Amino acid sequence: MNKRILLLVVILSLTFALIWFWIRKLESEGPKIIQGTKTKFLNKPQVLNFEIEDRGSGLRSIQVTVVQRDLQNEILNEELPGSLLWGKKNIIRRTIQIPFDPAAMKVKEGPLTLVIVARDYSWRNKLTGNISLLEQSFILDRIPPNLSCLSTQHYLNQGGTGFVVYQTSDDSIKDGVLVDNAFYPGFPVKAANYPQARVVYFALPYDQPAPKIELISRDEAGNEARVSFYYLLKKKKFRQDSLTISDDFLQRKIPQFFSMDDTLSGMSLTDAFLRINNYWRDQNHRQIREICRKSQPESLWEGRFLRLPDAEPSALFADHRIYLYGGKHIDEQTHLGVDLASLAHSPVPAANSGLVIYQGDLGIYGKTIIIDHGQNVFSMYSHLSNFSVSCGQKVTRGQKIGTTGDTGWAGGDHLHFSMLIGGTFVNPIEWWDEHWIRDNIKLKLEILAPPQQQPSASKQ
Ligand SMILES: [Zn+2]
Repeated sequence: MNKRILLLVVILSLTFALIWFWIRKLESEGPKIIQGTKTKFLNKPQVLNFEIEDRGSGLRSIQVTVVQRDLQNEILNEELPGSLLWGKKNIIRRTIQIPFDPAAMKVKEGPLTLVIVARDYSWRNKLTGNISLLEQSFILDRIPPNLSCLSTQHYLNQGGTGFVVYQTSDDSIKDGVLVDNAFYPGFPVKAANYPQARVVYFALPYDQPAPKIELISRDEAGNEARVSFYYLLKKKKFRQDSLTISDDFLQRKIPQFFSMDDTLSGMSLTDAFLRINNYWRDQNHRQIREICRKSQPESLWEGRFLRLPDAEPSALFADHRIYLYGGKHIDEQTHLGVDLASLAHSPVPAANSGLVIYQGDLGIYGKTIIIDHGQNVFSMYSHLSNFSVSCGQKVTRGQKIGTTGDTGWAGGDHLHFSMLIGGTFVNPIEWWDEHWIRDNIKLKLEILAPPQQQPSASKQ
């Protein structure tokens, strides 16, 4: 009786073990193929990584084929050691690294697919194992966008504005002018003969007499075309100016900044002056760059820019200012606009048509308006006593936008007027000059105008 039971237990155990073994060997989960390199475009030598894993029965074979149109090129065929019966030493995980070499793979520019087939040591499919397949699509693109300059002569001034007409192919996702490391984006313009024409305004730094200036165009794959163009950059010497700071000015002005910086109230007059003149000046310039980061894609202005009427400039663009207090040199800064003084509370006209993109307090600049004239051209009006327009409003050339004043870091009633390209201050003097606008912008745009039609001979 006991022996029978024992035998039954042994037989049952063996049967269960056999069934369990059978089930394990017949596992149905195929290898997992995970792409390591998440890339869409291939344009430079690189290694494509794939992780392949099979926890059930281990990896048996890996095959990689590159497919492009009629081409099918096997680039890897690997059998992995292992056993169908005893799977203890079978390989569970494998990293494959495929060096991408277009010549060796015989692939050409355009879309291509890598097909990865992996098999495991399962007894499924008549002992041939489970199969997994991953198709990964790429685009081989090593050709940078077409890029050429259409405008010919570019006469530039240190601290001034540059303007270039160029064309680039439709695959460009970023194009414009690079001045040293500062990028100025281009904007499309309508021109029947030049469907890919674009224009770009850029700023010439006032403090760098010989920057590197290039046209660039980049595609989605990261291919970049760089083209230099002919230009003549005239050096400019900017003025030096000294400004005496009085106790009266400090006592009157510093408390106005307490609301934006409570550390000022505990400081000496000169420390508070230095914090506003340096830290807050930098902060305000950062804020202005942020405000001018986006611009309307079309040009909104017409004709020369207007200057505050009946006003004499008291400080010019890029004047190097030395601040004196009690006869001592305490600070230096550069003045990035033109100060125009007229009668107190004079009406301020919009220098040209555009869109008001900022109206409000702007630290050292006091009550300020910034107008976007499109294609990255901006004008800025500071130290105003009040506003006649609001943010988001369209204005026309000459329309009253506010009244002069002495808000912010201003000693007396005047208009601080600035022009900006992107977020960079440029000399407004060029924009007030009709000849400069004609020679440097209008004549270049005429390249895009369709050729004049010859009057056809009339029938007699
Ligand atoms: Zn000023």
